[in-house]
Amino acid sequence: MKRVYRAAHLLEAELIKDQLRDAGIPAIVHGALLTGIMGEIPVDATPEVWIEDSRDYPRARALIAAYEKRLRQPGHGHWRCPNCGEEVELPLEICWNCNTPRPQRDD
Ligand SMILES: [Zn+2]
Repeated sequence: MKRVYRAAHLLEAELIKDQLRDAGIPAIVHGALLTGIMGEIPVDATPEVWIEDSRDYPRARALIAAYEKRLRQPGHGHWRCPNCGEEVELPLEICWNCNTPRPQRDD
């Protein structure tokens, strides 16, 4: 087991985990979700993404670097949900508040 990412929030951690799994890298999220099970992790623990096989580490880091690069692109920081008005951080494509999909960008 090896930690590859410390996420700002649980949704981001889940997103990273899914991207790693899509790439064939077994990954799990340590953090808020496990609070009830473990009983030892503080409620405000930062969610972390771990990979099961440390040999996947370079590939995992490359994927995450690409993710972070997309995140920093101008105009891609966030979008406003047309349904509930919440600001949603990219690359989340679904409103965290009401599950409304991100509208098409008109550029
Ligand atoms: Zn919403």
